[in-house]
Amino acid sequence: MIRRIDLRGRLADGEELDYRALVPRASADVESALEAVRPICADVRHRGVEALRELTARFDGVQIKDIRVPESALRDALSELDPAVRAALEESIARARTVHADQRRSDVTTVVAPGGTVTERWVPVQRVGLYVPGGLAVYPSSVVMNVVPAQVAGVENIAVASPPQKGFGGAPHPTILAACALLGITEVYAVGGAQAIAMFAYGARDDAGAQVCSPVDLVTGPGNVYVAAAKRLLKGLIGIDAEAGPTEIAVLADESANPAHVAADLISQAEHDPLAASVLVTDSTELADAVDAELKLQVAATKHADRVLSALTGEQSGTVLVDDLAQGVAVADAYAAEHLEIQTRDAPAVAARIRNAGAVFVGPWSPVSLGDYAAGSNHVLPTGGCARHSSGLSVQTFLRGIHVVEYGQEALRAVASHVETLADAEDLPAHGAAVRARFPS
Ligand code: NAD
Repeated sequence: MIRRIDLRGRLADGEELDYRALVPRASADVESALEAVRPICADVRHRGVEALRELTARFDGVQIKDIRVPESALRDALSELDPAVRAALEESIARARTVHADQRRSDVTTVVAPGGTVTERWVPVQRVGLYVPGGLAVYPSSVVMNVVPAQVAGVENIAVASPPQKGFGGAPHPTILAACALLGITEVYAVGGAQAIAMFAYGARDDAGAQVCSPVDLVTGPGNVYVAAAKRLLKGLIGIDAEAGPTEIAVLADESANPAHVAADLISQAEHDPLAASVLVTDSTELADAVDAELKLQVAATKHADRVLSALTGEQSGTVLVDDLAQGVAVADAYAAEHLEIQTRDAPAVAARIRNAGAVFVGPWSPVSLGDYAAGSNHVLPTGGCARHSSGLSVQTFLRGIHVVEYGQEALRAVASHVETLADAEDLPAHGAAVRARFPS
């Protein structure tokens, strides 16, 4: 069912393996989506709410009158929320708050020299736009994962956008609205895709010129290729977290792993999107065969079988057979999965050797689904290999470290000659003069 890439024996043959080129990965075509997204963003910039209404009719098939969801609709959604879903969301929020509270940063003052200090002050971003996807599936869990770190960081002004759903009166899914209400979010827009990112970047005025949505400083949250392309296009005008692509799971497993569990976990992420990636890395052909057999059984029984099958049989998914776990770790590092499960003997020791992953799930009792909803960790994670250089969403995403420099007269005098020398070395004598002017001889 899932294609195989056999790397066994190739190192013994003396071959140099470029694991990054060998691991399965789809070519996410953000570049060509940019062409589609450019006119969308320009339209929102120039025509504001009117453009948002038209684009929503075109791409979501929904006619909306007001792009902003009334606060009463948020309260109603919460009061009508299934009590079991409410309890689960509350647990998810509580666990996320516990983990994210430990990510808070304290200001640090360093005494560099007598009378000379540098303080790093951590200041939250003022206004953020959080994108919650809602095309193929709806993600109230992504409301939690975006909002909690922003709130813990101390962001005062938080807006959420999510695509309107057919059949819900032009609003995002009621569970999204209820999750916003649970978290105390009152500013929610029924806008999805690239047009939502453009709305956040430029703000949007209605036909009468009234500001309906004010521009934000930073946009975070996952989304499809159009969302990613809009983030790439508007980066600079706004800050962004990352261009999150389709979700990914890699499982590094040996023969001790339970094939039914491995298959279930591969399917769980394939369920997101036909473009989702599920990758098994193992040194055991017996396990690979058993997982394949399990996939056939379980895919047939799963609800979104078509989507799952497309994801599992796509070029982005596969089983990579390796000589041993050391090579498995090298392959996992080269792949830099958004989610990496370690299902091996002594999983904590193997996990400790991993350098590149958005999040690591250690041992048989830590499936990715736990992290998606209720581990306390964040599920907005770098995809497409970006885990080599980026982290997932955290409190840090919503903070800026500002250096506050405070030197007294004697502290400046003590270092003045070095400043002047370096200024001369860079042929910027006015820099040196600015210091000399303070100490006329
Ligand atoms: P989405 O909300 O990102 O995109 C839906 C929007 O795309 C629609 O509102 C529509 O306006 C726009 N759109 C659709 N077709 C278009 C077209 N042809 N041209 C321009 N715009 C168009 O929802 P989605 O599509 O379901 O994608 C969500 C993605 O987010 C999935 O890939 C999923 O795996 C990923 N995801 C990631 C995480 C994470 O934490 N990394 C969490 C949840 C979801």
